[in-house]
Amino acid sequence: MPDAVTDQVADALPGLIELRRDLHENPELGFYETRTAGIIAGRLNDAGMSVKAEVGGTGVVGVLDTGRSGPTLMIRADIDALPVAELSDLPFASTNGNMHACGHDGHITMALGAAELLAGRKDELSGKLVFVFQPAEEFVEGAKAMIADDVISDHSPDRVIGLHLWNQYDTGFVGVNEATVFASADQFELTITGKGGHGALPHTAIDPVMISAQVISALQTVVSREIAPNAMGVVTVGQVIGGTAPNVIADFVTIKGTIRAFTADIREKIISAVERIAKGVAESLRGGAEFKLLNGAPPVVNDPGVASWITGIAGGVPGVDEVGAHEEVPVGDDMAEFINRAPGCYFLLGAGDPERPPHHNARFVFDEECLPLGVEIFARAALDYLGG
Ligand SMILES: [Zn+2]
Ligand SMILES: [Zn+2]
Repeated sequence: MPDAVTDQVADALPGLIELRRDLHENPELGFYETRTAGIIAGRLNDAGMSVKAEVGGTGVVGVLDTGRSGPTLMIRADIDALPVAELSDLPFASTNGNMHACGHDGHITMALGAAELLAGRKDELSGKLVFVFQPAEEFVEGAKAMIADDVISDHSPDRVIGLHLWNQYDTGFVGVNEATVFASADQFELTITGKGGHGALPHTAIDPVMISAQVISALQTVVSREIAPNAMGVVTVGQVIGGTAPNVIADFVTIKGTIRAFTADIREKIISAVERIAKGVAESLRGGAEFKLLNGAPPVVNDPGVASWITGIAGGVPGVDEVGAHEEVPVGDDMAEFINRAPGCYFLLGAGDPERPPHHNARFVFDEECLPLGVEIFARAALDYLGG
């Protein structure tokens, strides 16, 4: 049976590479993936799955219900691109100003490849397979939107798996962690309020630019003074927007930043410390601070049982040279929203080597040799879990 899967993947590969290149040439931003979603829905339909489109905006769900009782496995792939003008020299490079610079074109291809293969082997399975094609991962809104549209409550998955291809690991390496994979990612906005006035008469005004400077400095004490040295935390202020002229004291200043952590605990601690410090410092200087959390995602933390199952599955796939733990990466991914609702595993699939341009870079190119490996890991996981 396993050899037959390898052969089937090899047979499907030329068509999958063609699909991947077409997706790469036509990238679409989060919640605008209409062409992409149309292709996904069409192929799932052709494979004989029941398809629901427009789930949480532009999401697509394909269900293979075997009609026999058994567990439900959910496989999730993200489908959006980034607002990056592509500078790769690929013959199928995007020219529309957006780019699949994170490899989500590969994710779509691998999940679809597995869906098509498994639909053809429905008779060997018991239970339900649910393929989730999620929009808008890059600004971590798509998972929440699909969940609000009942993707979890409709299917109650027993396990949820997914992969992110990873350019900085050699093709043939599969990274599986038994706990944290990626960090939480939260954006915040602070409005620092003062009282506008003449730059020459500061005593008649309350200067929000000066208060902002104090707040920004004080925010750097959150990680250095409130979080244990062996825990990871980041507070970055990336935007300061305020003032209209050199001799005018503004009414308010807007500060925007990002918060990262590897555990839910530290995440909460940092969020509340940022709010407390901003308000405390601003008030001590006669101003005020309003704190708002914008979009965010929890850390991606694998279930150890599901992770060790995936480790075993991946280890049996020809072409996979090594399966092991990988460094926790301080990027965010809203796969966390799924894994927090069902035991799951998000694994990294090596797709190049450490010298390649990193994800989100305009010259990002991944190694297509990773594609059959991802298809086969998904397919074997499903055959193992639903094939018993
Ligand atoms: Zn990304
Ligand atoms: Zn990504």
